[in-house]
Amino acid sequence: MAGRFVNEGLIGRPGSRGKLQTPALVLDLDAFERNVAAMAEHCTRNGMKLRPHAKTHKSVAIAKKQIAAGAVGQCCAKLGEAEAMGEGGIESLLITSPVVTEGAIMRLMALNARVADLMVAVDNPQNAEALAGAAKAAGKKLKVLVDLDPGLHRTGIAPGEPVLSLGRQVHASEWLELRGLQCYAGHVMHIEDFVQRREQSLAAMKVLGETRDAFRAAGLPVDIVSGGGTGSFNIDPEAKVLTELQGGSYIFMDKQYNDVHVGNGAPIPFETSLFVQMSVVSNNTKNLATTDAGFKAFSTDAEAPMLLSGAPEGSAYFFFGDEQGGIALPQGASLLLGAALTAITPHCDPTVNLYDAYHVVRGDTLVDIWPVEARGKSA
Ligand code: PLP
Ligand code: MN
Repeated sequence: MAGRFVNEGLIGRPGSRGKLQTPALVLDLDAFERNVAAMAEHCTRNGMKLRPHAKTHKSVAIAKKQIAAGAVGQCCAKLGEAEAMGEGGIESLLITSPVVTEGAIMRLMALNARVADLMVAVDNPQNAEALAGAAKAAGKKLKVLVDLDPGLHRTGIAPGEPVLSLGRQVHASEWLELRGLQCYAGHVMHIEDFVQRREQSLAAMKVLGETRDAFRAAGLPVDIVSGGGTGSFNIDPEAKVLTELQGGSYIFMDKQYNDVHVGNGAPIPFETSLFVQMSVVSNNTKNLATTDAGFKAFSTDAEAPMLLSGAPEGSAYFFFGDEQGGIALPQGASLLLGAALTAITPHCDPTVNLYDAYHVVRGDTLVDIWPVEARGKSA
């Protein structure tokens, strides 16, 4: 590992947080640990299991911390992410997106041979047939969750006869093992108004509950009903449908989620733990400073990053190109060359995917560096 990360010489040095070479992804370990514990406690209290989504963090170290706190395993968005988690020794994995192409199905079978408890979401009869054929050829059964469309139409199969028929097909297949259902209502997570978010979440959960009941009535096993996210964590328990929660972002709490006010005015047990630290690299213009963090340092699908520290009150970050960010300063204010600034990420998952590592801090000290093993593993 020696020489792998530019900041590794700073590990353990008091005050090293302010000296990081930047841009750097920074994880506040105290806040992170509180988030991990709070979601584990929330699920236990509500009689649900927790299978956090690795799409958010893409890190084996983080997956292990979540599992040590009680999570049953990890969700993975993509096969590559699951391979990275499997490589890191995570034993129970659910791939939440369809695995369809021939090459990918071959990799899936190889992973199925290595991982003790691998499951994949399926939303298409043709795909189920292809997976069954590949599992037969590989000589090991593949565990499947049938993915129900919550109305977003991104993935998932329609409720009613289509989902039931797919369930029957999977259950009848000698080489597939039906474990239950998945349904992720991605379109409700960021609805700002709590009443609407609750209404739409519960509507999706109602259809899911009816689907579960129809499966049971048809003699189809439904041991697992997996879904839910950070935006519905305080709504899902009420529906009493999910057996496991797939929350991802709760460990970091990005600007997008902070803006949604997930708790509807009431405090929630999650706080921002993930930041990007940047440095002033040019300051020749009045009321303006340029930092080293631009489009390559933050995801750009959400609003601009929110400045948290290092800049005077009233300063605002704006994207200033691939490599740079601008800090619009209040009249008469300036920033020193090399000054360190901290921002909250606009959207955590795609921001993490831009970095090789987390700079793990306790207070002002860099205490560790955790690689983002599944960075870029979108295939
Ligand atoms: N489950 C699935 C299938 C997802 O796609 C996502 C995120 O997009 C999550 C869970 C995690 O959701 P969140 O980050 O809102 O907690
Ligand atoms: Mn996200």
